[in-house]
Amino acid sequence: MEAELQELKRRLLEVDDLESAASLLSWDQTTYMPPGGAAARGRQLATLGELAHQKLVDPEIGRLLDALRPHQEALPPDSDDASLIRVTRRDYEKAIKIPPSFMAQLSRHTAASYQAWTVARPADDFAAMRPYLETTVELSRQMADFFPGYEHIADPLIDFADEGLTAATVRALFSDLREQLVPIARAITGQPPADDTSLRQHFPEGQQWAFGLDAIRRFGYDFNRGRQDKTHHPFTTKFSLGDVRITTRVAEHDLREGLFATLHEAGHALYEQGIRGDLEGTPLARGTSSGVHESQSRLWENLVGRSRPFWTFFYPRLQATFPEQLGAVPLDTFYRAINKVERSLIRVEADEVTYNLHVMLRFDFELALLEGKLAVRDLPEAWRERFQADLGITPPDDRDGVLQDIHWYGGPVGGAFQGYTLGNVMGAQFFATALDARPEIAGEIEAGRLDTLRAWLTERVYQHGRKFTTAELLQRVTGGPLRIEPYIAYLRRKYGELYRL
Ligand code: ZN
Repeated sequence: MEAELQELKRRLLEVDDLESAASLLSWDQTTYMPPGGAAARGRQLATLGELAHQKLVDPEIGRLLDALRPHQEALPPDSDDASLIRVTRRDYEKAIKIPPSFMAQLSRHTAASYQAWTVARPADDFAAMRPYLETTVELSRQMADFFPGYEHIADPLIDFADEGLTAATVRALFSDLREQLVPIARAITGQPPADDTSLRQHFPEGQQWAFGLDAIRRFGYDFNRGRQDKTHHPFTTKFSLGDVRITTRVAEHDLREGLFATLHEAGHALYEQGIRGDLEGTPLARGTSSGVHESQSRLWENLVGRSRPFWTFFYPRLQATFPEQLGAVPLDTFYRAINKVERSLIRVEADEVTYNLHVMLRFDFELALLEGKLAVRDLPEAWRERFQADLGITPPDDRDGVLQDIHWYGGPVGGAFQGYTLGNVMGAQFFATALDARPEIAGEIEAGRLDTLRAWLTERVYQHGRKFTTAELLQRVTGGPLRIEPYIAYLRRKYGELYRL
């Protein structure tokens, strides 16, 4: 058995090396690459992706997994080896169902679609994207059909991102959530908006950069195993457990943009940096699902980074960094400004209360497009109607409407969005459990100390990487399944106080 296990690990390490090389090239593509490199970079990424896929679907991997089944069954299910064999088998069985020719077709199509979107979005030209998106929906349907036996056609696509969840379970959860959120959002947006002029002054980039780095150093982001660079659409990427990088973008006229992107991406990075070192190079050495990953970015960005205790410590430092801009602005004004709730057009800039409304309408549209109940040509109009109903405004154009997110133009339709809202819900569940277990955390945040919180999350969540599914992890950490109540309670408490609801 030992020989088979070593051979499996050796092969998986090769897959990991190829995937890491692709990640490095795509990090470079979105940070430093000059525009002239675009065509060749697209080809290089496709080649590496195909090689990694070929290595993963090699029949020898299937043979090794079969040979290792008795070994796996003799081990405790939560042991590293049993988890490695189990998770690899799931990945392998999914990967072999998709023909390589389809993978190549999908990746060629999404590369072309993404290129077209980079031109069509600034030009507000949905008509140019319509044929691409129609093909994307068709290819997404075909992708789902490689996994027959589903209840809803989106199920296999959701399962890729958030294993174990289905359209039905997510739909039920979101409908409960929407019922609670719409009245809260209405009650707040019916009041005079918070004054955020203090955040819309000139804040030189260098100081913003330094302040952001200081904040995430206190989160525990390890700069020996990471760095931050500039990009257009912030993201986190990992080349190994010793090299987990974040990216941000800074706006000199709005303090929120760069700062909260840094805090958000640092949350993703803490998760990856917290994975146990001996899982390195295996399929276990990453976050367990898009929802759990987002739970950590949202926890650090919002539950910590937009909280009063956090700014009790950090605001005097921010004032010292920007004495002219913020010296005369009281903490309370600043705290209200960073938690301003408003009807807004852009998902990634939305506040904590309205954010999920942006996500849920996209999720519903994904299902409707895949079901064939909504045609791509009717999408812009459907978007405007639903936006008006949920958020009380109508987007003036498609650029800041249906064209705003990269997801449907650079990847399949289905499974792309639910993770964001699941992350908000789970983040609140994890945070509430942490505060119950270690009540001193609240006081420590006020003193700028985040070690207890980070250590608790590392111990309970991060170190395991992908050993447990989302449902197993929630059960182990919080003692129960996914629940919206802690999240709703958090929003009511925080915004009830801010807006006297
Ligand atoms: Zn994120």
